[in-house]
Order: sequence, then C-alpha cells, then structure tokens
Amino acid sequence: EFHKSKGQHILKNPMVVQAIVDKSGVKSTDVVLEIGPGTGNLTMKLLEKAKRVVAIELDPRMVLELQRRVQGTQYENSLQIIHGDFMKVQLPFFDLCVANIPYNISSPLTFKLLAHRPAFRAAVIMYQHEFAMRLVAKPGDTMYCRLAANTQLLARVNHLLKVGKNNFRPPPKVDSSVVRIEPRHPPPPVNFLEWDGLVRLCFGRKNKTLGAIFRQGSTLQALESNYKMYKALHHGLTEGTAHSTSKGIESLASIMMDVEDDAGHVEEEDDDVMEVEGEAGTGSRKGKVTPEFKNKIMGMLTTQGFDQLRSSKMAQEDFLRLLAAFNAEGIHFA
Ligand code: SAM
Repeated sequence: EFHKSKGQHILKNPMVVQAIVDKSGVKSTDVVLEIGPGTGNLTMKLLEKAKRVVAIELDPRMVLELQRRVQGTQYENSLQIIHGDFMKVQLPFFDLCVANIPYNISSPLTFKLLAHRPAFRAAVIMYQHEFAMRLVAKPGDTMYCRLAANTQLLARVNHLLKVGKNNFRPPPKVDSSVVRIEPRHPPPPVNFLEWDGLVRLCFGRKNKTLGAIFRQGSTLQALESNYKMYKALHHGLTEGTAHSTSKGIESLASIMMDVEDDAGHVEEEDDDVMEVEGEAGTGSRKGKVTPEFKNKIMGMLTTQGFDQLRSSKMAQEDFLRLLAAFNAEGIHFA
C-alpha cells in the first residue's frame, strides 16, 4: 500500500515523533511547514504546539487520510494541506520547518528551503544518516564535502539524533538522523555562484593541494578563458570590486537542486588524464595557457600561502579568503 518511489516510510515510534517536536522548539505563535506529512503522525503533534501547520504532500491518498484525521477535531482550521510536489509549489511564509522527508529529494529540498525568503528560524529535518553526516561534516572530517561547505555557508547545522530504521514502517534500508538547520542572516556577502564554482573545483580532488589543482592545464585553461571574457566585459572596472555583496542565492540553490544526493562522492573522481603540465599543454584541444597567466595564479597562491592547503581541511573562511584573492586578480569562477 505504500509507495516506495515516493519515499513513504512512516515514522511509527511515538517517542521519536515527540523527540523531534520537542527538539524543534516550536512555539504557540509559529507557523510550521511540514514536507510530506504522510498519515500525519508528526503533523498531529505539531498541531498541538503550533499556531498553524502548512503541510505539503504529493500523494492524494495521504492528503485524504490526513484531512480525515483532523476533521471534526480542534485542529481542523489550523492545518492547511497543500497537495503538490514540494519542489514545484511556491512556499508560503513559515517560521519553522519540521519534516520527515522523502530522502530522494534531500539535497534539492534543503537548498530550496535555504533560498526561501524571508528566512525561517530553523528547520528540523530527518535525513538518511549518511546524508546527515555529510551535511554536518566539518573541515578535517572524512565526510567533509561540497554539500557541507555550501550548506554551512548558508546555515548552521547540528546533528540532533540518530533514528534506527526499525522506527519506520516499512523500514527503509538505512538508518536516519535528525538535523537542525539555522539559516545565517544575513548570509555572508559573497557571490554564491562563484563560491560554488570555486568550492566545486577544490573538492573535485579533495585530497590534492590547491597548488596541484590549480597547476593543472585543464583548470588553468578554463580560468584563463573566463578571465579574458571578464576583462572584455568589465573593462574599466577596477579588478575585484564587483563582488562584495551576497548574490546568486537562488542560482546556487538551483545548482544544488540538480546535485544527486550522493554528490561529493561522485565529484571525487580523479581526472588525471586531463593533467597537462606546463608547455605539454600546447596543442591540446582547448588551447594553450599563457605562462603569464599560470605565473599570476601560482604566484598568488604561493605568496598568500594557499598552495599547500587541501579542500578537505579548509574552513569557510579559507574558501572566502581564497575567492577574494582570486577576485582581486580579476579571476572569477562563474
Ligand atoms: N511524515 C510522515 C511520517 O513521518 O510518518 C511520512 C514521511 S515519508 C518518509 C515521506 C512523505 O513525503 C510521504 O508521505 C510521501 O508521499 C511524501 N512525498 C514524497 N515526495 C514528495 C514531494 N515531492 N513533495 C511532497 N511530498 C512528497
């Protein structure tokens, strides 16, 4: 009767439901957004505490079941059910998001929330355990990845509790974890598209030094052609001025919406075949990197001490400093 394709794993343990509601810190004045209410076990508990709950549910059978469940109760008027796909509906205002989500849309869902304005106070979300661990990973942790860097640029994240698979019916294949997400407001003044361009490049080979990554012919070629284009488009502008405000949060969100939920693993594939050392790059398909450009980049990385860093250990401030240093040289990643 449950649809596996819709990620329908109903949370059956009332203690876990209660723990989620308690940890969410829901107040009597809050409008709570729930994604995928299913049969409403979490919804009913939220209704007891919140001013209103808006629940977005894709499956019409679940919508009906939930409607029936509140009908004739005191909560009839404080629950609004939106029948639709969370990724497609326009989100209403909400203070708090509390949800046991369908895991197949973990990444896009998270970034859709983080791009939403006005920013909500907090989201308390059940994820697959492994996804949750990647989301909260810190520099130096083995799970640290582009997903962690991008999420933590926009929000503070905390692991709240691990939930074993047997708390669900039918039990999913893997354990779950509840994570708390608190958007930073305002978010750091950075062009998010450029941020992601840089972070993605650095995590493409997360255990290599930045020196090794930026010495690569393929990387240099891409950066140089971008550099020339920027110069042509922005001539007259002083280098490094145009990028000091938060920009592109929707674009970052839409990029991250395309990221598979196992991204970060996918991106660690080595592409050593592309490695082109210095003049050996001559005659390659994408053209040749000028020695001046290579020296400009390598010079900046070495003088500022970036060349020996590895993305696996780089904190948000390191990436922000690196991006600023590149931008100051007129080099851009989007
Ligand atoms: N919240 C319930 C609970 O804890 O028992 C059910 C959680 S179940 C993991 C996920 C729910 O999300 C299902 O009811 C499913 O129909 C719904 N769902 C799946 N994809 C969805 C989407 N794109 N938008 C909204 N709801 C979706």
